[in-house]
Amino acid sequence: MHISYSELRVYRQCPKCYRHRYVERLPEKPGRDKLAFWGVVVGKLVEAFYRERWWADPIMAESDARRFLSAEAQRRTEVKQVDWGPGEFEVGLEKAKAAVPKILSTVRTERLLGARNWVEQEMTLPITSGGDTHTVHGRLDLLVEAPDRRLTLIDGKAGTTLGRRSDPEQLKLYALMVERHYGQFPARAGFWWFRHGVVRWKKLTHLSEFAAGLDGTLNRIRRECFAPVVGAHCQWCDYWAACPAGQEQTAEKAVPGLNLIPGTVTVVGA
Ligand code: SF4
Repeated sequence: MHISYSELRVYRQCPKCYRHRYVERLPEKPGRDKLAFWGVVVGKLVEAFYRERWWADPIMAESDARRFLSAEAQRRTEVKQVDWGPGEFEVGLEKAKAAVPKILSTVRTERLLGARNWVEQEMTLPITSGGDTHTVHGRLDLLVEAPDRRLTLIDGKAGTTLGRRSDPEQLKLYALMVERHYGQFPARAGFWWFRHGVVRWKKLTHLSEFAAGLDGTLNRIRRECFAPVVGAHCQWCDYWAACPAGQEQTAEKAVPGLNLIPGTVTVVGA
């Protein structure tokens, strides 16, 4: 089995949702691209920041970054054929541009520039489970090597809600991948909220329990255990219309006057 961290995360939240998305490949809800649009564009900016080495000149860095955002947003609108409402694109672009000084100052204050920096690096980790070896793969947003050769691992968050989707298990997985590829465990690891200029560092402990949990998850996927797991996440599920358990959950949680019917809830950011 070849599986990514995102797939594992979906399975851990709801195996039935995993089955619909990755086994049956049912289409996602229309408009998903639009919801994640600005998060992806800001993520691309940070990638370009490191690839193009804009940090050499802080004034140029800022103007280059703003230019990049406009071009990238236009390019992505065309590729994804996003149908913006009146003024929507302009407002989104201004908000994305407001992240530029925060990104630049966080690089300085958190020492996120090293002797060597890697962005968007694809890595793998073999896991033996049930007698088979499976490959878990993931894309590391940023790995920084300081002059003393210590490594910093960063997962970028481009959404607007601070703390959302900050799963320490993701960092544990990526840290094990880094250890396998570079022969050393990262000295620090954290989530960087680009738009807030905030890095939250995480202690990566209990790695053996984490590895055992991974083994258990892979085993359940292999045995095709796809029972639904309901929760607040059902509100945003793309497959709610095909899921009686999820419909029951949202009906139970509905508050008079507050519509929780999926498809009517706006999700912002990636
Ligand atoms: S609606 Fe809820 S229980 Fe049903 S598939 Fe989606 S996340 Fe799972």
